[in-house]
Amino acid sequence: MTAHAPNAPTARPEREIRSILVVGAGLAGFETVRALRDHSFAGHITLLGAEGIAPYDRPPLSKELLARTTPAWLTEDQHFDLEAAVDDLRLGEPAIALTVSDRSAEVTTSAGTYRADAVVLACGARARRPAGWESALTLHTAADADALRAALGTGRHLVCIGAGWIGGELAGVARAAGLQVTVIEGAVAPLGPILGDRVGGRLRPWYDALGITLELGMPVAELTPGRVLLRDSRAVRGDVVVAAVGARPATEWLVGTVPLAPSGSIRVDGGYRVLDLPPHVVAVGDCVERLSARHGWVPGGHWDAALRGPELAVRTLLGVADHAGDPSTDLAPYVFSSQLGHELTLTGLPRRGDDVVLREDEPGWAALYFAPQSRRGPRELRAVLTVDRPRDAAAARRMFRGAALPIADPRIAADAARDLRDALGQ
Ligand SMILES: Cc1cc2nc3c(=O)[nH]c(=O)nc-3n(C[C@H](O)[C@H](O)[C@H](O)COP(=O)(O)OP(=O)(O)OC[C@H]3O[C@@H](n4cnc5c(N)ncnc54)[C@H](O)[C@@H]3O)c2cc1C
Repeated sequence: MTAHAPNAPTARPEREIRSILVVGAGLAGFETVRALRDHSFAGHITLLGAEGIAPYDRPPLSKELLARTTPAWLTEDQHFDLEAAVDDLRLGEPAIALTVSDRSAEVTTSAGTYRADAVVLACGARARRPAGWESALTLHTAADADALRAALGTGRHLVCIGAGWIGGELAGVARAAGLQVTVIEGAVAPLGPILGDRVGGRLRPWYDALGITLELGMPVAELTPGRVLLRDSRAVRGDVVVAAVGARPATEWLVGTVPLAPSGSIRVDGGYRVLDLPPHVVAVGDCVERLSARHGWVPGGHWDAALRGPELAVRTLLGVADHAGDPSTDLAPYVFSSQLGHELTLTGLPRRGDDVVLREDEPGWAALYFAPQSRRGPRELRAVLTVDRPRDAAAARRMFRGAALPIADPRIAADAARDLRDALGQ
């Protein structure tokens, strides 16, 4: 079986799909069911989940960790009655095996085997916890949030390993609640592996301003309950230790059936078809790495892709051809985050070695990541980070809708008094 080109026109399936299995009851699984019914799919839907509770939204788990004690249920937030839409809802029955044949797919759980004409893999990711770090808490599920809330309720000092998106959010929330907070980061800047050291370094004063101790460039040598030993032999003690060192796709049950990237992601084409598998297998959300015509391989891991990807995956599955060739359906990577009192968005994918141009004015600033080029003048813009600049955030999202990366003039882009889109080549 050959892989499809990114955003290849959707072909009408050769046969009618009458039953669909959706694996994963997170945002992507929820939105898949909604999209199926929105497209008048009248067949049988089975939804398998692993957490034993209804789908909920994850961003509030960190942002509102201490303020809200119940999950933000998707049925309420997204105004869609999941229970009424699904024929067979099994929220506490994780899939353990997948078998794909030419005309159907079978998913096995501890309770039985389910067969359908098509399968949507939406099994998301899990928090990473390196070997030997078993005593550290993580923050990925509602159950994790309950455990962490309880621990912070009695604790006085939070030690958070990782100054990434979630580590930064958690540190801010804990500090605002009056806890002493230490953040330990192996890279030399907060969010350095994503934003680069220069831009990530601009976040450092935010930690200082809130009185958070930030240890940078400091890998953890050993972790025992309540004690983190640093590579330079210093020990940091805290009554709550959290590992916020990223997530890994929850795809171990697919090893041997689905070709996986080294990251553990399921590779999909622009139409969310799983590479090297028949077209009745699609995947979406945090478990995938998608081939974008504009950005190359786009890793999962962000809310917007789990919200909007399912509609496109469902169109592929059902053969709804109305988006064929429309570059705006090639979703640009988009992350939003509240870091230590600042609102951040990142649109596109920065790459190591990009030329970074700053756009500064009160309030906030933006960093523009340009493809390196020896001559001056307009060039490919790969990503835009905005900090407390909602207008630039909205402009950036509109700039990444074309068939290719936008060509922009760095000189004009740096002028914060002008609309960001003035920098686009004519
Ligand atoms: C604390 C936190 C804060 C976040 N904040 C932001 C933010 O501010 N901005 C942003 O862009 N993104 C944020 N994210 C990321 C965003 O929430 C995710 O990208 C999104 O939830 C992905 O949805 P998903 O459905 O693909 O995966 P998931 O939400 O991981 O859902 C997948 C579901 O599948 C289940 N599952 C796994 N394996 C199996 C199996 N074998 N069988 C059946 N079910 C299975 C899992 O238990 C899970 O319930 C945050 C994530 C976390 C954890």
